[in-house]
Amino acid sequence: MSDSHSHWSIDELYRSFNAPIGALDCGQECAPYNENGAPFCCDTQHSIPAAYTAEWEYLQSHTDLWHQWQPENFELGETLHQQTPEDMLLLECRGHAHCQRSYRTIACRAFPFFPYINRSGEFLGLSYYWEYEDRCWVLSHLDCISAEYRQQFIKTFEVLLATYPAEGENFAAYSAEMRQIFAQHRRAIPLLHRNGNAYKISPASERMRRCDPADFRQFEPYAIAAQLRFPDEYE
Ligand code: SF4
Ligand code: SF4
Repeated sequence: MSDSHSHWSIDELYRSFNAPIGALDCGQECAPYNENGAPFCCDTQHSIPAAYTAEWEYLQSHTDLWHQWQPENFELGETLHQQTPEDMLLLECRGHAHCQRSYRTIACRAFPFFPYINRSGEFLGLSYYWEYEDRCWVLSHLDCISAEYRQQFIKTFEVLLATYPAEGENFAAYSAEMRQIFAQHRRAIPLLHRNGNAYKISPASERMRRCDPADFRQFEPYAIAAQLRFPDEYE
């Protein structure tokens, strides 16, 4: 990747964000829980990758893996298109059996994480799309995320947030929504910080408590002891 944030290519971006999330193939862990046997993030019934226009141009000229996502009905299509940023579009691949690792979108590589941005506008590190806690195995195993993946994620989003300021605003809004929802549920926000440590963030005060990533909560169907009181709950 170029040192300059203003000069990068999709090819460079893809090559510098290619580390697997961890040593284990997490798709093997979650797929048995999906009725069609696909990993949840590779099934458009659960998650539809949004790609930057520049990515779509690059992918079209390099692979036949992708096509534009076609909604099952008009209403769903309208809703999701309205939620999709202007310089992005929704894609669908030919399915997990045909995956081409080098042509995965940034969305494929980043899932289930997003860049967490605090109230001061700082990109602190990785948090996750909490609505997948009941499906994504990774969210119950945050101690499995490799340091290499974390660093590649951070470098990639530094470039993307500098290139697409509107994306920074979207992720800041999503982070704010997470604080609001987690505060309502009296939950701490899990953070894999860019400094290499893990923290639990109090959503109201944004106070950060360092923790062992193995202490983060697990969720059904992956929870070992779902009935126990979880350590990320706070008084
Ligand atoms: S990231 Fe989550 S949903 Fe995607 S394959 Fe891994 S465990 Fe499954
Ligand atoms: S390209 Fe690969 S990782 Fe991305 S949605 Fe398709 S099967 Fe999943």
